[in-house]
Amino acid sequence: MLAGAFDLAGRTAIVTGGTRGIGLGVAQAYAQAGANVVVASENHDDVAQAARQLTDQGHSAHGIACDVSDAAALEALVESTLAAFGGLDILVCNAGITGQAGSWSLDDFDQVMAINLRSIVALTGLSLPHIAARGGGSIILMSSLSALRGNATINAYALAKAGVAQLARNLAVQWGPKGVRVNAVAPGLIRTPLSEPLMANEAFMARRLQMTPLRRVGEIADVAATCLFLASDAGAFITGQQIAVDGGTSITDGS
Ligand code: NAP
Repeated sequence: MLAGAFDLAGRTAIVTGGTRGIGLGVAQAYAQAGANVVVASENHDDVAQAARQLTDQGHSAHGIACDVSDAAALEALVESTLAAFGGLDILVCNAGITGQAGSWSLDDFDQVMAINLRSIVALTGLSLPHIAARGGGSIILMSSLSALRGNATINAYALAKAGVAQLARNLAVQWGPKGVRVNAVAPGLIRTPLSEPLMANEAFMARRLQMTPLRRVGEIADVAATCLFLASDAGAFITGQQIAVDGGTSITDGS
């Protein structure tokens, strides 16, 4: 009965920050499940390369350069997607930056908020009417484990990611009656270019693995699989949730 529940054939997805790390993994998973995928990030060459990687494997993909903190670029992203594929069913707001560790500068705060939270308010606002017009769909917002606990070093990042989870709940309530599901995913430590400096810190890693029941870092595929589940009919009755993909880091007492 569940065969085909993860199939995305005929659906169109936008993945921001889709040129590397988690976003590229999500784009690959969606393309393999049959979706048309629009890969977006700031860099023209990177989006072209990521899209080519997918089309070379026989998938349907487009690359669109878009700085998510640029309102006009977000409008163009949605319009170009509609022009290329005739509609929009799935949106993954994944682009994000950490900001400066330990910083209390308001310039840093503003930049982190602009990219990690404000851009998502803007892009979901532009996308939701089009997703609803298809009879429904799924939006996935990339939050973080840092949104679930106090954080001494990346204050603005953790604040923004907690806002992302609340945005998922708000939008889920507002758009659920139109068939649109909105969820947040909260990855723990995942092996990507973003986390390289942390993974190189032996003291941090020893502490983190002791605080992780599965005693390993996450892989991109761990997060991509959760995003595929949430985007597809397999997740059809799940909305407004923040799902931790963290090997249990958020639930342990460290024993
Ligand atoms: P990553 O490897 O650094 O990739 C980030 C992606 O976001 C890149 O494609 C980058 O493209 C794009 N991006 C950054 N700023 C952008 C902007 N202003 N406009 C458009 N695109 C932008 O990061 P990652 O580790 O895959 O993380 C992806 C998401 O997961 C982020 O939201 C992050 O906060 C979250 N997360 C990651 C971890 C982890 O351990 N890795 C844990 C929790 C949450 P450009 O190069 O073009 O800027």
